[in-house]
Amino acid sequence: MTSDQPIRGRLGPRMPRAYHVMVKPRGAICNLECAYCYFLTKEQLYPNSRFRMSDATLESFTRQYIESQPAAPEVTFAWQGGEPTLMGLDFFRRAVELQQKYRRPGLRISNAIQTNATTLDPDWCRFFRRHDFLLGISLDGPRDVHDFYRRDKGGRPTFDRVMAGLRLAQEHGVEFNILCTVHAANAPHPVEVYRFFRDEVAAQSRGGAPFFIQFIPIVERDNETGYSPAAGLAYESAQVTERSVQAAQYGEFLIGVFDEWVRRDVGRIYVQIFDTALAAWLGERPGLCVYEETCGAALVMEHNGDLFACDHFVEPRCLLGNISDTALSDLVASPQQHAFGMAKWETLPACCRRCEVRFVCNGECPKNRIRTTPDGEPGLNYLCEGLKLFFTHIDAPMRFMANELRNRRPPANIMAFLAEQEQKLEAKFACAGRNEPCPCGSGKKFKLCHGRRTISNT
Ligand code: SF4
Ligand code: SF4
Ligand code: SF4
Repeated sequence: MTSDQPIRGRLGPRMPRAYHVMVKPRGAICNLECAYCYFLTKEQLYPNSRFRMSDATLESFTRQYIESQPAAPEVTFAWQGGEPTLMGLDFFRRAVELQQKYRRPGLRISNAIQTNATTLDPDWCRFFRRHDFLLGISLDGPRDVHDFYRRDKGGRPTFDRVMAGLRLAQEHGVEFNILCTVHAANAPHPVEVYRFFRDEVAAQSRGGAPFFIQFIPIVERDNETGYSPAAGLAYESAQVTERSVQAAQYGEFLIGVFDEWVRRDVGRIYVQIFDTALAAWLGERPGLCVYEETCGAALVMEHNGDLFACDHFVEPRCLLGNISDTALSDLVASPQQHAFGMAKWETLPACCRRCEVRFVCNGECPKNRIRTTPDGEPGLNYLCEGLKLFFTHIDAPMRFMANELRNRRPPANIMAFLAEQEQKLEAKFACAGRNEPCPCGSGKKFKLCHGRRTISNT
């Protein structure tokens, strides 16, 4: 593993080679009121607004977004909220029509939409299927842990409504990912949460198609504005709410999921952070902004055309401008956005630069850099302990899978390899004496380590 090496893939001084804009056609408006939602309060940024994107803004954005990426073989439109389906189906019919109007020959256009799935009906599903929309469905696990924080405006649970929407999407063959936030309520149950997605959700998708899950840590700052501690800007509060996942708990959650996945599901279930890590172990760019060395290529546009640096920095100091006043490409390539992107690297604390897992972690997302390092430097990631635990834990299997890929063999070979190792170990356990060192290599006596299980079963 590497530490403080020259960085790969920093953004150039101007336009990034590729960038994404998440579009919020209804701004922060949502039919739910999840307790940890960081976006609902953004409504306050636009007093008296109807929170509906106009046709002129939609058309201007569509044209500029496509024209500003002349070399891209594919342009992805990402719709988000709030709850973007509250715009109604006609808005998205128009969006697809405008995409075709401005599409140059040979350009692929794709659409991704983040939804809580409670508004889906057969019309929506037929539309998504027909136009190949990829859905990101927010679901935090089985009923109890999902309903803990994900409730509607009347405080009612949402699990049944989300599952009904999800099943409808499955029935219509709509492609979707699961977005699961990791918080105080589900973090203690990694295997239960993961098995629910695998055995209850993925199992009913059509034709054994690959299944994608993203885990997103909830780190909620307990401050008055809810604004993020932008890298290089003032840190307002290092306190987090009790809903937030604890740092070590986050690492243990990911380890719990990984240990289950790596033995049974490699090549069948895709967990975003495991894919990202494998890319890093192969020496490639992680491909996910939170683990990149710099930020700046994942912007957000509000319903009125205001462009912000990132979804986690929709706040006045990170407003770049409005696409009806300044060209989208000029805003993306602006010195302000460049400085925002570079700050992630420039403010990385020295202890991160020396860290063994810096090559994959890169200090994670600046919004979570609210702790000080042991030597008193500000800007250490709140999740550091968990990130270090997890990335260290997966080192050996990641090396194995990266080696398989380099040799053009499937990384899924890890499953047979681990099964064989574990069989050998079980054979050694069977003949180990109570007071001998445990064959697992822990350094403890067998009777105090894996022997506990064998002895208590006899
Ligand atoms: S569904 Fe999404 S946008 Fe709506 S309240 Fe929940 S987290 Fe926020
Ligand atoms: S601030 Fe965080 S979420 Fe935003 S671009 Fe940077 S790493 Fe990604
Ligand atoms: S946040 Fe922690 S794990 Fe990540 S690079 Fe910094 S020191 Fe290493």
